[in-house]
Amino acid sequence: MRGAPLRWGSVSLTPPRTLSPSKVATFTQCALKFRYSAIDKLPEPPSEAATKGTLVHGALERLFALEPDDRTPAAAVDCLAEATDRIRSEGEFIDLHLDEAAEAAFLADARTLVDNYFTMEDPPAVRPIGIELMVEVPRAGYTLRGIIDRLELDDDGELVVSDYKTGRAPAAAFTQRRMDGVKLYAAMCTELLGRKPAKVRLLYLRDTTIVEATPTDSDLSGMNRRVDAIWHAVERSCVHGDFRPKPSRLCDWCAFKAHCPAFGGEVLPPRHLEPAQP
Ligand code: SF4
Repeated sequence: MRGAPLRWGSVSLTPPRTLSPSKVATFTQCALKFRYSAIDKLPEPPSEAATKGTLVHGALERLFALEPDDRTPAAAVDCLAEATDRIRSEGEFIDLHLDEAAEAAFLADARTLVDNYFTMEDPPAVRPIGIELMVEVPRAGYTLRGIIDRLELDDDGELVVSDYKTGRAPAAAFTQRRMDGVKLYAAMCTELLGRKPAKVRLLYLRDTTIVEATPTDSDLSGMNRRVDAIWHAVERSCVHGDFRPKPSRLCDWCAFKAHCPAFGGEVLPPRHLEPAQP
C-alpha cells in the first residue's frame, strides 16, 4: 500500500500555513494522518490521555504564576482544582462522557501526576521567564509555531527549555528520538532571542524521570534543515495530492484507522471536495 499514490485526479491541496513540532512528528509518522489532521482538519475523538495532559499542564501553569515561595504542594492542589473547574466546562472534557467513578479515577490520576512533580524539582528554585510561551518563527513559505511549556534560566543565567510529559517515559534506546520537539524549540529560541539554550529537558511526570540534553550547534542546524525538508515534502505531497499511509505500531492510537487503506478502509476525499452541507 505504501507504494501506491493516493490521488484525486489533478486535485492539488493547499498546504497548511504553519508547522509545529507536533505536526512535524505527525508528518514523519504518516503522511495520510497528517493530511487528515493538519489539512482536512477532521475532528478527532477526545482522548483521556490528551485531556489529562491538558489538565496537568494547566495546573502547573497556574503554579508557576505564583511567587516562588508560594509554589507548594498545597498550592498545587488548589491550582489543579482551578484547572479542573475550567476544563469541566470545555468540550474536550465533556466529550469524554466519564461517569462518576471514571471521573474520580481520572482526577485522582491527574493529582498523582501533579504530586509526582514535587519529587522531581523544587519549584521555588525554578526561574521561569515564559510559561506556555507561544513562539513563532517565519520561514521561507511557512511559519514555524509552537508553545513551550516552560522557558527558564538556570543558575548560570543560561536558557533552558522544559517540556512536561504525562505519558510513560520511553526505553533508554528511544530517549534521544523523543527530544526532537524540544530541540526544535531550542532552535526557535536561538533564532528569536539570539541565544542558544544550554539545555533541553523532558519531565516525565508519571515515571518521575527527567531526560536532558545539551543541544549543539549542529543539532540545531540539523533540526532547521530537517523541518525545512519536511515542509518541502508537505508541499510536494499537496501538489501531487499524494499522502501515503505508513503503518506502524502507532496506528493503534490513530483516530483515522477506519479511513486508512492500510487497514482496509477507504480514503476520504479531501475535505474541500466534499459536497456542501445544506
Ligand atoms: S492508521 Fe496508521 S497508516 Fe493509517 S492513517 Fe493512521 S497512522 Fe497512517
